[in-house]
Amino acid sequence: MAIKFYNTLSKSKEVFKPIENKKVRMYTCGPTVYDYIHIGNLRAYVFSDILRRYLEYSGYNVKKIVNITDVGHLTHEEIESGIDKMEKAAKREDKDVWDIAEFYINAFKKDCEEMNIKEPYKLPRATEHIKEMIKLVEKLIEKKYAYISNGSVYFDVHKFKDYGKLSGNTIEKLEAGRGGRVKHNPDKKSQLDFALWIKNENHIMKWESPWSVGYPGWHLECSAMSMKYLGETIDIHTGGEDNIFPHHESEIAQSEAANGKKFVNCWMHVRHLLIEGEKMSKSLDNFYTLQDLIDKGHSPKTIRYLFLNAHYRKPMNFTMESLGAAKKTLDSLIEFMEKLDEVDGKKNPIVKELIENVKMEFRKAMDDDLNTPIALSAIHNFISKINKLIDEKNMCKRDAKKIKKTMQEFDNVLGVLKIDKINVPKEVKKLLKQRRISRKNKDFKESDEIREKIKKLGWEVQDTEKGQKIIKRI
Ligand code: AMP
Ligand code: ZN
Repeated sequence: MAIKFYNTLSKSKEVFKPIENKKVRMYTCGPTVYDYIHIGNLRAYVFSDILRRYLEYSGYNVKKIVNITDVGHLTHEEIESGIDKMEKAAKREDKDVWDIAEFYINAFKKDCEEMNIKEPYKLPRATEHIKEMIKLVEKLIEKKYAYISNGSVYFDVHKFKDYGKLSGNTIEKLEAGRGGRVKHNPDKKSQLDFALWIKNENHIMKWESPWSVGYPGWHLECSAMSMKYLGETIDIHTGGEDNIFPHHESEIAQSEAANGKKFVNCWMHVRHLLIEGEKMSKSLDNFYTLQDLIDKGHSPKTIRYLFLNAHYRKPMNFTMESLGAAKKTLDSLIEFMEKLDEVDGKKNPIVKELIENVKMEFRKAMDDDLNTPIALSAIHNFISKINKLIDEKNMCKRDAKKIKKTMQEFDNVLGVLKIDKINVPKEVKKLLKQRRISRKNKDFKESDEIREKIKKLGWEVQDTEKGQKIIKRI
């Protein structure tokens, strides 16, 4: 069976065929590093990780680039005021902008690591690619797709015939929809033109260019870095749905105008993570960071598992209840893996058949535009059948080993089964030790009292065949 992905450009599911046999070049729009990312952003990054992992599972070699926007991601108002998000953060934290970038790049890397997102081939920083961006602007000026005005450079959208092909916009519709909301910029020929280079000698991050001292436009960064590391045409470009317009539309315009070639074969966009029906975002102040949820006792793997419960092309409403339910189901998966170690019964040829079936169903679901909820339901079905065989002692150790291997193969894609390391506080560890001794001495009254003390500290102790197990209470 062939892998099919939904392409925002053609608005249909297409058979995936990379430019080069077995090699995939993919680009994911990364964070603007002025603050901690939120779990909405993480939905976008987990999606692109699942995509990469599934391609690897299917035998492809994936070269994945995730950029770091450390300059230039500005709203129109921010360009007007000359103060960008990085500068605001520097003021807020009384730090240098470069330190702000460094700090939040590290925070981003740590969040990705906790969420079990595989490291990309490279995480290029926009500020380290100014030369490439200037070259690209020069090419666009030379080809008359861009013009210099008052030291800034703008892309002339009227010159690019296909402007709107990704988002379904047309220049006419965009002009009609502009209204009076956005301030008029007299330097632009059309108000729809977007900035490639912004003149601003007072900007906190600025560079010399043939046109002025200033800084690059946000869209330009991604085109320049994608071309540098992946070539003029790439296989897949991903981002959240809010990236479609104007960011990705403008990336297409610049790149295709400069190279005269298709920029991206398959555009994949993840729908938003919502909270009470609204997009989770910094500007609406309705977000959770990963650390917020860890502090509430949730594990990053649970959040990852929660994301997998919904198809990436459906909006997902985040609630604490849904996170709690995800935890329960994920716990049952982990318990199942542990239970496999204790299997001791007679060999059963049915197991092989069940394994083949679940592998086929997993592949079928994932081949169909990465349908993770269907893939998960196939796995749960499989588990309930195997659980029945275990309970009936109708399966041997070797069967169990094969099942474990299959589950681990699935987890190479899903990335949820390896249990997160939990940092148990010293105080709780001490109580656990005392409780172990009291249980050994069969002093169950004392052992129960210690259990209560542990509970008051926010932890729960469970007695298993292998001894005490400690979990954070939610
Ligand atoms: P930003 O730093 O705002 O450019 O966002 C980084 C990535 O996260 C982009 O691909 C966005 O489209 C994506 N993103 C932002 N908010 C959400 C959300 N609530 N749900 C899903 N993806 C999001
Ligand atoms: Zn981008």
